[in-house]
Amino acid sequence: MTFTRIALLSAAVALGAQAASAEEKFITIGTGGQTGVYYVVGQSICRLVNRGTADHNLKCTAPSTGGSIANINAIKAGDMDMGVAQSDWQFHAYNGSSKFEGEKFDNLRAVFSVHGEPFNVIARADSGIETFEDLVGKRINIGNPGSGQRATMEVVMDAMGWTMDDFALASELKSAEQSAALGDNKVDAIIFTVGHPAGTIQEATTTVDANLIPVQNDAIAKLVDENPYYAWATVPGGMYKGNDDDVNTFGVKATFVTSADVDDEVVYTVVKSVFENFDRFKRLHPAFENLTEEQMISTGLSAPLHDGAAKYYRERGWIQ
Ligand code: GLU
Repeated sequence: MTFTRIALLSAAVALGAQAASAEEKFITIGTGGQTGVYYVVGQSICRLVNRGTADHNLKCTAPSTGGSIANINAIKAGDMDMGVAQSDWQFHAYNGSSKFEGEKFDNLRAVFSVHGEPFNVIARADSGIETFEDLVGKRINIGNPGSGQRATMEVVMDAMGWTMDDFALASELKSAEQSAALGDNKVDAIIFTVGHPAGTIQEATTTVDANLIPVQNDAIAKLVDENPYYAWATVPGGMYKGNDDDVNTFGVKATFVTSADVDDEVVYTVVKSVFENFDRFKRLHPAFENLTEEQMISTGLSAPLHDGAAKYYRERGWIQ
């Protein structure tokens, strides 16, 4: 090889490397515990985005996090670009209400909603817990601060007139740790706002005899009546070992959110990656099976749509 050819070759290699590093952009999606469904949402979105990295230069990662509140706070701080969050906490973060009182997140933007998430209470069969009211005096995992279930449990406790002192123990384990605690008889019941089937609940019900407990009373009815982001929900019988009957509770939606500070082009590319591979996306978890584009862009969203998402939905003729 002549000197000129070597020089030319290394110049080309250097140029190529430079071009790649200048254009490659990394995005991070906040999820939840590894045995929940948010983790699968984030991993699935990233998988579809990363299939097209050669075309758009976006590289997506979706690490496990503490859940809804942690994700919203990380997006607000600019530590994450996007994340999954319960519809009730999207509402409160955008409106500066409830837990977000005095911390209104004006730049919060909705991208789409995903699966429904019932508020689930799972109790050991030997705990004597049969109704939601039976939680009083028992050892309950109320969830880690940062999780959606912990924040929603606090709202529910308020509605029920309960404080932490009403429980024999109120532990703060993460979603991925709580099934083992239930199996080891460290707690009598665990709480998890999650889509079905959820790994955590499969683990809980196969490790020990445990039942999903109905959450249905006047206080809950008032919450559902008065707030647009809650709805009644049913966990179908047969979903988990030993739980053959339908269980009634209330629930929220899982939603995908971002910040107005994230580039339109980035959000556009992410939603395009999902909706142009929608059948593939729906196959990645049974909780996604019945999703429809129409529902995803209209229900459970209280923050304005991100401009990049709206651009894509307009192009598809889904919105005006
Ligand atoms: N809804 C839970 C939360 O907001 C997470 C559910 C999941 O991990 O799928 O923290």
